[in-house]
Amino acid sequence: MEDKYANICVDISHEKVDRPFQYKVPQALRGKLAPGMQVLIPFGRGNKLIKGFVLALTDVSEYPDELCKEVADVVEGGISAEGRFVALAAWMRANYGSTLIAALKTVLPVKEQVRQVSRRDIYLNVSKQELEALLGEAKKKRHVAKERLLEALSTVDALSYSFALMQLGVSSKTLQAMENQGIIRMETKTAYRNPVKETEGKKDRIALSYEQQQIVDSFLNDYKNNIRKTYLLYGVTGSGKTEVYMEMIAGVLSEGKEAIVLIPEIALTYQTVLRFYKRFGDRISVIHSKLSRGERFDQFERAKRGEIQIMIGPRSALFTPFSNLGLIIIDEEHEGSYKSDGMPKYHARETAEYIAGENGASLVLGSATPSVTAYYKVQTGEYGFFRLQDRFGGKYLPSVYRVDLREELKKGNRSMFSNLLYEKMKERLEKKEQIMLFLNRRGYAGFITCRSCGYVVKCPHCDVSLTEHGKNKLVCHYCGYEALSYKQCPECGSPYIAGFKVGTEQVEERIKTMFPKARVLRMDKDTTRKKDDYEKILSAFAKKEADILIGTQMIVKGHDFPDVTLVGVLAADLSLSAGDYRAAERTFQLLTQAVGRAGRGKTPGEAVIQTYRPDHYAVLHATNQDYESFYKEEIAYRKVCGYPPVMHMLALLFTSANEKRLGDIVKEAAAGLRKAAEEKGWRVIGPADAVVGKINDVYRKMIYIRHEDYGQLVCAKDFTEALMEEKKKEYGDCSVYFDFDPMNGY
Ligand code: ADP
Ligand code: ZN
Ligand code: ZN
Repeated sequence: MEDKYANICVDISHEKVDRPFQYKVPQALRGKLAPGMQVLIPFGRGNKLIKGFVLALTDVSEYPDELCKEVADVVEGGISAEGRFVALAAWMRANYGSTLIAALKTVLPVKEQVRQVSRRDIYLNVSKQELEALLGEAKKKRHVAKERLLEALSTVDALSYSFALMQLGVSSKTLQAMENQGIIRMETKTAYRNPVKETEGKKDRIALSYEQQQIVDSFLNDYKNNIRKTYLLYGVTGSGKTEVYMEMIAGVLSEGKEAIVLIPEIALTYQTVLRFYKRFGDRISVIHSKLSRGERFDQFERAKRGEIQIMIGPRSALFTPFSNLGLIIIDEEHEGSYKSDGMPKYHARETAEYIAGENGASLVLGSATPSVTAYYKVQTGEYGFFRLQDRFGGKYLPSVYRVDLREELKKGNRSMFSNLLYEKMKERLEKKEQIMLFLNRRGYAGFITCRSCGYVVKCPHCDVSLTEHGKNKLVCHYCGYEALSYKQCPECGSPYIAGFKVGTEQVEERIKTMFPKARVLRMDKDTTRKKDDYEKILSAFAKKEADILIGTQMIVKGHDFPDVTLVGVLAADLSLSAGDYRAAERTFQLLTQAVGRAGRGKTPGEAVIQTYRPDHYAVLHATNQDYESFYKEEIAYRKVCGYPPVMHMLALLFTSANEKRLGDIVKEAAAGLRKAAEEKGWRVIGPADAVVGKINDVYRKMIYIRHEDYGQLVCAKDFTEALMEEKKKEYGDCSVYFDFDPMNGY
C-alpha cells in the first residue's frame, strides 16, 4: 500500500470537527508518517497550521484530489502518540460511540512535566527486634503510613522512595523524620537500576497447591506453544486466585514479556499491592485515582522505557504503553466499575480482549461470581476455563439462612432485624466475635412521602425523590440539590410526612438502641468522603476496634476479616427492583460476596439473608452459593428476552433541556431507525422516557436496539449519528449518547 493519503484527527476538542480529515501526504513525507504521529496541517478557510494525529494511512482517497490539502510537516519533539493507541482510540470510537478526541484522551495519558528524578532507595536501619517494637508502637499510635512502610521493609530489602510516597502513601515528612531517628537509611543512586531484583526468586515463594499448579501449568503450556486466548478463572474468594495470577505473571515475564493487572479501585488496598511487591519488587508499579495526572504519566513513561514490567491498577491501567505486552489479568471480572461511565462508555473486558489481540497477549479473567457474559463465552467455547474448587486451606463456606421478612411482619416484628438475626447478633457480641451488616444500597428508600396523601418529595431539577440525610436535611443524589426537611406535607398540610427509614444511618441508630454496648462502625459514601476514610474504617475494624461494621456495597470487597463470623444482609432484594436486565445478576453477586465475608478465619461463619422475595432465584441460589444453578436460570431468561450476552443491546439516550423538541427528535429517530431496521433486522424498542426522566433540568428519553451481531449495532449507531448530523441545524440543542450492552439502567 502506498501511503498517499493520511486520515487525520484534528487536535481541537470541538465536537463539530470530530471526524477524521483526509490530507495528501507530500512526496517529501512519504514513508515517514505512521499512525499516532503528530503533524501540522493547514485547516479551515485561512489554512491556519494546526496540530493533528495521524490515524491511518491509505491509498484510497475520499475526495477529489484537487480538494485535498497536504500535510505540512511532522511536529518535532512533540509526543508521537503511539500508533497502537491511536488505533485503539479509533476502535473505541467506532465500537462505543464517542468523539474521537474523547477516545484519544481516554487512551493517551496527558503529558505533564516529567521530572527526571534520580533514584532514591529506602533501607531499614534497625535490627529485626527493633523493627518489631517499632511496628507495635506504630500500630498502637495508629501511625498508619509508618506501619505500612515498616511492614513493607520487613519483607523486602529495599523500597524505592517514589513507591513509598505514592503507593504506600507515606509523606516525605514522615520519611525525613524516620531517617533522622535512624530507623531508615536513604540512598540516592545516579544510575537507574532496579534494586529489588534480588528479592526475586529468593523470597519465600509459596508452593502452589496441586489444583493451582495444574492451572498455571496448563496456562503456561498454551503460552509457550503460542496459543493466546481469553481464560476465565473461577474460584471463590480465598481460593488462591491471586497466587495463580502471580505465577502466571512470573511465567510470562520470564519470556521477556510484560503484564497488566486490573483490580477494581475499591479492592486495590495496600495489602494487595504489597503482596505483588513482595513477589516482584520494583518491577511493579501501581496507578490509582489518588495519583495526579503527572504522576500517572510518569508511571506510564516508566513502562514505556522498560523500567517496570507489571502495571497494577483500575480500568485505566489497561492503557499502559508496554512494548511487549504478554498478559492482561482482570481480577473481579464481574465488577460494574470495569465499564466506564464517561465517554466513551467502554468495557475493560472487551477493550482488554482487543488490546490482547493486537499485542499477541493472553487475557485471564478471574472471579468468584463470574459475569453471565464471561461464563456464557466459556459455554460457547470462546474462552478457556479454569476452576479452583475450594477455599484455600480447606476453610468452609459459611452456613446461610434465609429469612422471609413478610413472615416476620405477620409475627408482628416490624423492625428491620428478624428474630433470627437478632439472636445471632446477640450471641456473637457475647462471644466477642465480629459482625458485618450489609445494606444493599445507600439511602435507598430514604425517600420522603406523605402518609395521608401519598405526596413524594422530589428534586425540582431531577425526576427522582429526595433522600433524607441526618435529622433535617433532604438531598438529591443526582445533582446535589439540598432542602430542609418538611414539617408538613406541602400538598395537604398533614404532619405525617416522613421517610422510610432503612438507610445505613438508621441501621446504626437502631443497633444503638438494641445493643447499647456494641461498638459500631459505619461505612457508606457519607463516612468515606476523605481519601483515607475508607482504609481507616477497614483497618479499625480489622484491629477489632469495633464489633459491628455496617455498610453498603463497599464493605463486601477487599479486606479479610478473620474474626467476622456473622454476616447479615438486611434487605436482599432492594437491588432486584433496579429495573434493568442485570438486576438479578447484580443481586446474586452482591449476596454471594456478602455471604463470603463470613468465616474467613478459623471459626466457621454464618450468614443471614433477610428478604421479601425468598423464592427469587437470585436469592435462592445465593443462599446455596450455587453459581451454576443461578447461571442456568439467568441465561434461560436472557435467551427468552433477547438480552446480552445472547443478543447485543444498544441504548440510545437522547437529552435536551427542551422537552417538546426532545420528544420530536426522538420520534423522528425512532421512525428512521424502524425504517432502516426493515432491511437490517434490528429490533427497535421505544422511544420511552428514561427511568430517570430528568436530571439537572435536562430531559431524557431512550431508544433501545437489539441484534445478535454487535456489528449491526455499530451500524445503527452510525445511522443515528448521521441522522443527528443531518438534523443539526434544526435540533442543535438535542444530543444523543450511546451505551453498548449497558450495565445500568437509565
Ligand atoms: P483469592 O485471590 O482467590 O481471593 P488468595 O490468592 O488471596 O485468593 O488466597 C487466599 C489466601 O490463601 C491468601 O492469604 C493466600 O496467601 C493463601 N494461599 C493461597 N494459595 C496458597 C498456597 N498455595 N500456599 C499457601 N497459602 C496460599
Ligand atoms: Zn400530603
Ligand atoms: Zn436533583
